[in-house]
Amino acid sequence: MSMATPGLPPAPPESRPSDVTGSVAGGGCLSCGTRLRHTFVDLGMSPLCESYLPKERLNQMEPFYPLHVYVCERCFLVQLEEYVSPEAIFTEYAYFSSYADSWVEHMRRYTDMITDRLGLGQASFVVEVASNDGYLLQHFVKKGIPVLGIEPAANVASVAVAKGIPTLVAFFGEPTARALAADGKQADLICGANVLAQVPKPNDFVKGLKILLKPQGVVTIEFPHLVRLMAENQFDTIYHEHFSYFSFVAAEKIFAAQGLTLFDVEELPTHGGSLRVYARHADDGTKPVTRQAEELRLREIDAGLQRVETYASFGEQVKETKRKLLEFLIAVKREGKTVVGYGAPGKGNTLLNYCGIRTDFLDFTVDRNTYKQGKFLPGTHVPIHHPDRIREARPDYLLILPWNFKDEIMQQMAYIREWGGRFVVPIPQVTVLD
Ligand SMILES: [Zn+2]
Repeated sequence: MSMATPGLPPAPPESRPSDVTGSVAGGGCLSCGTRLRHTFVDLGMSPLCESYLPKERLNQMEPFYPLHVYVCERCFLVQLEEYVSPEAIFTEYAYFSSYADSWVEHMRRYTDMITDRLGLGQASFVVEVASNDGYLLQHFVKKGIPVLGIEPAANVASVAVAKGIPTLVAFFGEPTARALAADGKQADLICGANVLAQVPKPNDFVKGLKILLKPQGVVTIEFPHLVRLMAENQFDTIYHEHFSYFSFVAAEKIFAAQGLTLFDVEELPTHGGSLRVYARHADDGTKPVTRQAEELRLREIDAGLQRVETYASFGEQVKETKRKLLEFLIAVKREGKTVVGYGAPGKGNTLLNYCGIRTDFLDFTVDRNTYKQGKFLPGTHVPIHHPDRIREARPDYLLILPWNFKDEIMQQMAYIREWGGRFVVPIPQVTVLD
């Protein structure tokens, strides 16, 4: 079954596939409904990456699900099939944005920039979708700008409410947006960071943005850029919580189909390379499309992102990244060295499960998030300790799992050099940092 999507040509008849997978379990493309048959990368079976285990569950079965990513041959949305319901993932979530200092700082700078650019003030209304623990909206609150957070994970939302940030516990999409709009609550600015990938129904989500946005309002959405994921082997950013992986051109199609135009874009260093896209109503003539947006679209088209063959070589690149990481770990273990992890992020769980790295290579990992301390990584059962444990263990190598925060972590942990400890990042390929 193929759904009609405005702005797209009809699905082509059987085109010659470069990598046809056999049976496909689920329905079609999350956006356009076309049957998915081109593999982007297959990372095998993996547990949900945020399902940290308490000690008493270590000898029980754990559910594993396929981490098989496809690319749609029609709209070029790179996506997982939905194996796990979003309710199962997001109603209690262990990710608290405020634990990463540089991320909070990134969002403080964003708040200053966007407040100036849009001239926001006390009469404005800012909504953040997937507002997490209020790490972003707190900066608007300090400026006296009215805000509303929308966050599906009740445990995370309650942290925001305790900070004085009004937060609605809900999944965002058309129904939530309609209810707010009917209540007279339309936004001058809707922002979202790292939420688009986590939406199982991107069309419904973007339709919600359209409904919630004032006639001359602006939406800004940040998401990891697929181009960087491919160029830099960031396969560990693939996990069940991330249903889709966006290029600018793929995002543009989804927004256009709901009557929203991407009129500007910034390329950001966050999360290994992200885009911040700016959207407005298609009929809002007050905001012309910028040269940056035009240029990025052309650059992606030149790079072949609208041809299915371009996506076919990524899987081989990923296998090679795994082999190199294992070669490094085997070599240092043979020398009798110790390796310890830093961080227990979702991306670490994809990496360790895909590569088969358990306590045979990694004695333990540490995390500043107290929710994770004392628990074990899903699948690999690597124990998670308080960061102070590093000082006691004096490891030879510290493998930084959240490599996107490596500068911050290397500063915090610089003392490992006192005993000759060295930092290692696994991505884009295993590298010892000096
Ligand atoms: Zn599609």
